[in-house]
Amino acid sequence: MRHRVPDRPEETETAVASPVRRDENAAYESFVAELAAGPGLAELLGRLVAGHVADDRGWCAHPSHSHRWETHPCPVVRLARLAERAAARRRSPARHGAPRAPGPRN
Ligand SMILES: [Zn+2]
Repeated sequence: MRHRVPDRPEETETAVASPVRRDENAAYESFVAELAAGPGLAELLGRLVAGHVADDRGWCAHPSHSHRWETHPCPVVRLARLAERAAARRRSPARHGAPRAPGPRN
């Protein structure tokens, strides 16, 4: 197995050691970006999170979790929040912490 040299200093050893995980993260981030850029985001996210509410013990009450308990906010709600934040960054990058253009550090 070949090990590659990190392109960026912020890459951790774990990320370098796990190319499958890195690919999954990249796919997930791409999905969130596409979701955020699509039309009718608010309506779509509303449908997505419908019923994903906390029960009195802090578990998500949606029936999709009936065979695998998920704490609230569950991954579906977290995905919707990520898409909302990505959409907000697209609308006003300066207010939502969008990365600055590449340049020399310190
Ligand atoms: Zn849920």
